[in-house]
Amino acid sequence: MYGFDYHRPGSVADATSALGGADDGKYLAGGQTLLATMKQRLAAPSDLVDLGGIADLKGISVSGGTVTIGATTTHAEVAASADVQGAIPSLAALAGDIGDRQVRNAGTIGGSLANNDPAADYPAAILALGATVTTNKREIAADDFIKGLFETALEEDEIITSVSFPAPTSGAYMKFKQPASRFALVGVYVAKTADGVRVAVTGATSHAHRGPRLEAALNENFSASAVDGVEIPVDHMNVDIHAGAEYRANLVKVMAKRAVEACG
Ligand SMILES: Cc1cc2nc3c(=O)[nH]c(=O)nc-3n(C[C@H](O)[C@H](O)[C@H](O)COP(=O)(O)OP(=O)(O)OC[C@H]3O[C@@H](n4cnc5c(N)ncnc54)[C@H](O)[C@@H]3O)c2cc1C
Repeated sequence: MYGFDYHRPGSVADATSALGGADDGKYLAGGQTLLATMKQRLAAPSDLVDLGGIADLKGISVSGGTVTIGATTTHAEVAASADVQGAIPSLAALAGDIGDRQVRNAGTIGGSLANNDPAADYPAAILALGATVTTNKREIAADDFIKGLFETALEEDEIITSVSFPAPTSGAYMKFKQPASRFALVGVYVAKTADGVRVAVTGATSHAHRGPRLEAALNENFSASAVDGVEIPVDHMNVDIHAGAEYRANLVKVMAKRAVEACG
């Protein structure tokens, strides 16, 4: 790891000004991705601006059927929250199945979404549940937030402050895990929402995406058997030592069927 200057601001305004004064600064949340990248010398920020001391970025609230989660809330806190378990049990379950205990106790929802790993779980959750990502500058609909491989709509100095999830009528997330990291080889989130069925897939391609063919089939007939007739294109599937394109495409259907069944 190369040397860097460390800042621990107490407010979002102080955090943006600390980043603005740095040559090549980065925000630090749980450090589960950023610190590992720095240790491998794949990233060498001049400054780290730690968001952990900003009270406004923490906490979970529920109002009018919407769950709002502060950006520095850890995966373990989301999983253990009675509010999340009550309003969106599938979201609490998703958080409780991220990585291992250490990752869940340090990693944050804001860090996960800003990082936008192609195999991360929360990107699927925001797409399937039609969430809104709030930053220090604006509100971004989930469909506009995910842009590509590790790419989001966030500007260089923009801070995610919270994420709001409207509670669905029912929902379920099914993940086929890479057994060492527990990242998704393929994960599928199915939600019955006020706008109809929404389906999001992670791990399969360069970034999490909606599944329009699955959504069309499930809007017509919400049953696992409806998934059988859906053709999942293999062209853009990820291929690595863990799984090929056809295998991943098949997993999308298998996980979608399991999620539909779990929705009840
Ligand atoms: C062994 C291991 C297993 C894992 N398994 C899984 C898994 O199964 N599923 C899964 O989804 N994830 C998994 N992860 C990822 C983990 O869940 C973390 O959420 C993720 O690494 C990033 O969150 P963080 O809070 O640690 O962010 P950091 O590492 O601190 O930051 C990541 C990036 O986000 C930026 N950032 C952080 N917070 C904000 C913010 N509020 N606003 C703007 N930018 C911000 C940082 O500048 C940095 O670029 C795993 C990680 C490890 C190490």
